[in-house]
Amino acid sequence: MIRLELSGEHTRLHSTLCAQCPQGPAGCCVSPPELDWTDIGRIVSLGGRGWLLEQIAAGNLLPVSRGLELRRVRKREERAAPRRSKCVYHGPRGCTVPAERRAATCNYFLCEDAFAERADGRADPASAASRQAHALLREVYGRWDRELAAAVTGLPEGPPWDAPFLDWLGAEFERLSSAARGELAPLAPPG
Ligand code: SF4
Ligand code: SF4
Repeated sequence: MIRLELSGEHTRLHSTLCAQCPQGPAGCCVSPPELDWTDIGRIVSLGGRGWLLEQIAAGNLLPVSRGLELRRVRKREERAAPRRSKCVYHGPRGCTVPAERRAATCNYFLCEDAFAERADGRADPASAASRQAHALLREVYGRWDRELAAAVTGLPEGPPWDAPFLDWLGAEFERLSSAARGELAPLAPPG
């Protein structure tokens, strides 16, 4: 079953299949997405600038050309299981960081198995709306990131990874998301 949690650009998709993921106990967190420029701006705009600086200093978020890479760790999911590489933030009961500190993809991505899951042989009524939400978020976030990547590439010394740079990304995220209010109207929270 899929649950669509409408919240504009912060919309989340949940699937009951993730608790018994066919890929294994860590699910798709074995391949964490990078925090791209838009994700970093989103986290800052939601109050996470200090957290980002701490995590960069701790080596859990690693500056790369497209933003920040999430460190991978090798752990066993069970005593007898082989060690597998996965996201540093994945714990025994799933993700250990709140949705406000994740890549947007972590919040809206579902695999084809999750979209295709059937309950009692019937298609999930939430599936079609969830696919549309997923496609809209991919399109919007991809476009925003291309725009921010072009601006970051133009910085003469490269990204400084300090508080003013993060604040600039946060302000850019807010500018882009507010300009897209109309486009994001189908994802507005109910009420
Ligand atoms: S989205 Fe798919 S691959 Fe990822 S945890 Fe859920 S069921 Fe597993
Ligand atoms: S941040 Fe959380 S949801 Fe995203 S890959 Fe890491 S553990 Fe998974």
